[in-house]
Amino acid sequence: MNVADSEVVISILSGPGITTVSDPADADLILINTCSIRENAEQKIWSRLKALNYLKRKNSSLKIGIIGCMAERLKEQLIEKERLVDIVAGPDSYRELPLLVAEAETGHKAVNVLLSREETYADISPVRMDRNGVTSFVSIMRGCNNMCAYCVVPYVRGAERSRDSQSVESEVRELFEKGYREVTLLGQNVNSYRWNEAGIITGFPELLRKIAEINPGMRVRYSTSHPKDISDDLLHTMAAYDNICKHIHLPAQSGSTRILKLMNRKYTREWYMNRIEAIRSILPHCSISTDMITGFCTENESDHRESLSLMEWAEFDFAYMFRYSERPGTGAARKMKDDVPDEVKAARLTEMIALQNRLSARSKRKDVGKSFPVLIEGVSKRSPDYLSGRTSQNKVVVFPAPGKRKGEYVNVQIERSTSATLIGKII
Ligand code: SAH
Ligand code: SF4
Repeated sequence: MNVADSEVVISILSGPGITTVSDPADADLILINTCSIRENAEQKIWSRLKALNYLKRKNSSLKIGIIGCMAERLKEQLIEKERLVDIVAGPDSYRELPLLVAEAETGHKAVNVLLSREETYADISPVRMDRNGVTSFVSIMRGCNNMCAYCVVPYVRGAERSRDSQSVESEVRELFEKGYREVTLLGQNVNSYRWNEAGIITGFPELLRKIAEINPGMRVRYSTSHPKDISDDLLHTMAAYDNICKHIHLPAQSGSTRILKLMNRKYTREWYMNRIEAIRSILPHCSISTDMITGFCTENESDHRESLSLMEWAEFDFAYMFRYSERPGTGAARKMKDDVPDEVKAARLTEMIALQNRLSARSKRKDVGKSFPVLIEGVSKRSPDYLSGRTSQNKVVVFPAPGKRKGEYVNVQIERSTSATLIGKII
């Protein structure tokens, strides 16, 4: 999400007299795109700011801006408390950045954190930072209306709005023409994508169909689906197109219905299991990943066991796991006590990570002996003699491939695996 946003920002700011540099020491303007989702994301920004202090001392014309979610959440506080910061711009005010930068250059502090009901940056053609030139993110909606009790997103990114489907299509077409071979459509809950053009409604399955039909050589992924509204219609659309990747990220958050209710996730453990069963029957070769939180308010040992047993039952191929971090202003922060001790949250997280490591390794082992079409994304980071790419199921594969180039598809037979990677040879 933040990569896609940074690309919009670079596009808005690019123009005569402005170029990007790779070394912060050469910059006259440093914008830090921030996330507020967990406390440690914000902690990292505070320390980054401290580290930039010495650059400001060396270059008196250097302006520093905080943009994105943390700007939205902390607003003037950032300017008042942190002398270093000259510009504060929330996620809906990037169009104002040229003005804000100009204002900062006159020596004033420049702030705009207004949230919008309409802004989707639909007409802005992002300048790609993802340097592999093969895979890219495309934002299809902004904000969120779901109000999960732990989550700061609706407060810092505002209400949900979908982007014009035509503009999504033309961005993907352009990417294909430039040599890109994979796009990931991004939204907090892509299932509620809805674009109304003169009374004709495009929902997410239709959008996905339109994007998949641009070219069979363009892979399409998406993230994130909310379990409460992932539909069979979407699963059938995925089954109908080879180039729609067979991977679904379906964040469960918890395996306990009691905790899910407190989290305001609007589904039960049984509902979630039913959705996994639907995926397994409609898309038998689909991989499934998830997000889990340990130590949400009142979570007890038996709730935690239910999370572990759900993970074991679902056999997730991959998971992002977090300990609960209370975010000021959210429903949970206002109404519930953050009552699970830190060391309990941490111990449960460690146990969960150990389980997922076993599940991830098992999922990779099952692929040994099979072959998969792989899109080459570049040279392996570990070994320059190997190329690296991903299967439709989103598993990383490395293989020797003399003469092959990134952006090409190859069939790879898997010979062995680690818990994170498949290793194979071209057939
Ligand atoms: N829209 C996506 C999630 C976006 S946030 C969805 O609903 O699935 C990404 C992940 O961060 C969440 O899935 C959740 O697991 C985690 N997260 C969000 N707020 C958190 C908090 N306060 N503490 C710990 N983890 C959190
Ligand atoms: Fe946050 Fe829930 Fe919206 Fe995801 S769906 S962004 S977790 S409020």
